Amino acid sequence: MFHYEAVCYHCKKVFKVYEGSPKYKIVKEKKTKMFCCEDCDHKIRLAAIKNFFR
Ligand SMILES: [Zn+2]
Repeated sequence: MFHYEAVCYHCKKVFKVYEGSPKYKIVKEKKTKMFCCEDCDHKIRLAAIKNFFR
């Protein structure tokens, strides 16, 4: 399966973005250099929800 490698700006880990995933198009078109792995994406989303309900 074809994939791109991107560095997560949050944990600095290299992660793979597979063809067909929501991030693939963003990475492919290089719309942003702020890539975030799935783990951090999830953490950030949870933190945002917690802050929202505080
Ligand atoms: Zn990360």
